[in-house]
Amino acid sequence: MLGHSHATSGALAWSAAAVALPVTVLTYPAVQAGVAHLGPVDLVLGALLTAGAALLPDADHPNSSIAHVLGPVSYLACTIISKAAGGHRKATHSLAFVAAVTYGTWAGVHWLGKPFTLALVFFLLALAVRALHLCPGGDGARSWGTVVVLAASGTFVMDHWLADKPSWLPFAVGLGSLAHILGDCLTDRGCRLFWPLDTRVRLPIIERTGNFVETWVISPLFVVGTLAVLWYAITRQP
Ligand SMILES: [Zn+2]
Repeated sequence: MLGHSHATSGALAWSAAAVALPVTVLTYPAVQAGVAHLGPVDLVLGALLTAGAALLPDADHPNSSIAHVLGPVSYLACTIISKAAGGHRKATHSLAFVAAVTYGTWAGVHWLGKPFTLALVFFLLALAVRALHLCPGGDGARSWGTVVVLAASGTFVMDHWLADKPSWLPFAVGLGSLAHILGDCLTDRGCRLFWPLDTRVRLPIIERTGNFVETWVISPLFVVGTLAVLWYAITRQP
């Protein structure tokens, strides 16, 4: 699957989860009781950040387009992660990874507070900007320079709206990663969902990734679906 399909499927998964699941699940593991729904601001910010989180598993691939998201810094990080994960579509494409990023985000938000939250928001926005082609392509300074400017501006804006410790952020990061992995399971190669076990889970519906249908049909449908569900979620609130 292409980056933009991952990002848009993450946003759709977030909006569907926000409508279908109780707040106690959306705020796991912090578990915020006593509120019936997430507010409109949290719903919209959550969709943007889940879109970015849906690129995280491909950090195991130094040649992927997201490896160049922050220039040489992210390229080096991806090279190290690729080595540690044992190659592409292994450790970072598993349910264990989903659990690790969920609890990792919770721990960061809980113990480090706002600096961690804003750094993570910046990084997730950078991934979303790159995946949705809001910056020039390639791996040059023009590309990652644009990413840095857009993600920093987005973080600055979000800083006004976001709580210091957004209780739904761990769930959003985990859900984005899960959407990515399930998407990859629909391709020929599948994923080792239960890593470190060797079992490969695959349901090859998408014959060839990177095709015309993915760009002009699937991704736009995901975007329209996300907007429709968000609209429903926001307008149903009293
Ligand atoms: Zn992947």
